[in-house]
Amino acid sequence: MEQIIAAGLEELGLMGRVPEDAPAQLAQYGRMLLEKNQVMNLTAIRDPEGVARLHMLDCAALLKFCDFQGKTLIDVGTGAGFPGMVLKILAPSLRITFLDSLAKRLDWLTEVYEDLDGVDNITTFHGRAEEFGLNRSFRDSFDFATARAVADLRVLSELCLPFVKVGGRFLAMKSVDSGQELENAAHAVKLLGGKVVQVEDYPIPGTEITHRLIMVEKLAPTLKGYPRRWAKIQKEPL
Ligand code: SAM
Repeated sequence: MEQIIAAGLEELGLMGRVPEDAPAQLAQYGRMLLEKNQVMNLTAIRDPEGVARLHMLDCAALLKFCDFQGKTLIDVGTGAGFPGMVLKILAPSLRITFLDSLAKRLDWLTEVYEDLDGVDNITTFHGRAEEFGLNRSFRDSFDFATARAVADLRVLSELCLPFVKVGGRFLAMKSVDSGQELENAAHAVKLLGGKVVQVEDYPIPGTEITHRLIMVEKLAPTLKGYPRRWAKIQKEPL
């Protein structure tokens, strides 16, 4: 895994911008993921090469488009730590908060970062994004909110944009066939104070797969009353 990751980071143009030991750290994280996956459902990808490419390098690609050093970031629906843990390993000064509604996955993430040298300044919160987004200490306060494979963009905007400070960015990791999804989310993004400022398609090194990063800038604070309750979000997406 380490060699595939190192070659992939090189191809992404990131070598030299990330810590020297990042490929080794990401490979160790990948090995821990595969090991734990035998007893806990963490990922559908079960081979080391797949983990290296479809998890580690897919998430690493975000560094091509954003500078995370010294910033604050909340990874919403982080699951086994994607993209958050990868970004933290590659940009160690990032101050990261992992949020997920499944406690078991967060407990495992805590084990991971305790095992990885030099990976600190991490906070984990167990709970639902739409509830945390109402909490004043989380609202309008992060430089970045990220999410991969959590929900449709209309719903995701309501879960993620409330966390982002004005001037910060919500980063949604999507597939390249998300054009209609993006159109459908236009109203939600605007209502929640955001504006789509960049859409970047990127190939995942060593694969035929291209993924998409949708970047939404927060232009105005979140309106009172958002996010709404989960039942309402689902029944009447914005
Ligand atoms: N982001 C990871 C990835 O790309 O591998 C995990 C994706 S997994 C399919 C979706 C995760 O989002 C699950 O761990 C689930 O518990 C979490 N989740 C879904 N809805 C959520 C919500 N409203 N608030 C917090 N976590 C949520």
